[in-house]
Amino acid sequence: MRINRTLRLGIVAIAVTLVATACGGGGDAATTQDHVREGKLTIGIKFDQPGLGFREADGSFHGYDVEIAEYVAGKLGVAPSGITFKETPTAQREAMIMNGDVDFIVATYSITDQRKEKVDFAGPYFVAGQALLVRQQTTDITGVESLNGNKKLCSVTGSTPAQYVKDNYAKDVQLVEVDTYSQCIDALRSGSVDAVTTDDIILAGFAGQASGELKLVGDTFTTEKYGIGLKKGDQQTRAQINDAIEAMIADGSWQRAFEETIGPLRDSTLTPPTVDRY
Ligand code: GLU
Repeated sequence: MRINRTLRLGIVAIAVTLVATACGGGGDAATTQDHVREGKLTIGIKFDQPGLGFREADGSFHGYDVEIAEYVAGKLGVAPSGITFKETPTAQREAMIMNGDVDFIVATYSITDQRKEKVDFAGPYFVAGQALLVRQQTTDITGVESLNGNKKLCSVTGSTPAQYVKDNYAKDVQLVEVDTYSQCIDALRSGSVDAVTTDDIILAGFAGQASGELKLVGDTFTTEKYGIGLKKGDQQTRAQINDAIEAMIADGSWQRAFEETIGPLRDSTLTPPTVDRY
């Protein structure tokens, strides 16, 4: 009897340890649906991208991705006061979703097959394209065709634009990889790189902030479909987020959110994308 009891306690202790280990990595074991029931969501955004995902000096958050996040959370039944925004840098996004650090991510996050091996995506909610940003006085970089002559091009580690340069222009330019686009912008302003490359609307946001000091050149040369990244296999949340995106487009909030944030900086005709219910 005594031995049995000791054994039972031992098994319980091992089970508790296993559960604790499984929950490791910074997140918690509760699902997004659990969080929704509690009226709380942790949403990943960028903190340094003007007009898209930006943390102001007073700690408030502004931008198109913030608007999308708040609308979607609202449709799931979570009020703005129940949202915690967390910074999700480009290269850390899949890991942060997999670890449960965030419920979902709205952060200029392109849907790709490679990323879909680790996470799922609702959306797309926007279609951007890779472009180039240079200093106002630059004349020898006019578009993607200028990517030659060993010029220094800054982009962010783990991003689709950095990968595109590696795949197509590895021998023509020097790619400088950093952690965030604001670091690339600092490098461009100080003259330590010749251009910055990423999605047109991200570059437009920084150019708008730099009051005429920086300019976008040439046409976009890739298609970047922005999705809302979430835990792989969470079909229920994905379907609900897709419903929310469709509702946002249908009731005019999607258009308004764009016009009130990044829109004035990027004069493109705005066509709402069709949500992909894969
Ligand atoms: N949309 C691209 C990507 O997801 C670039 C923007 C970013 O790094 O957030 O890689």
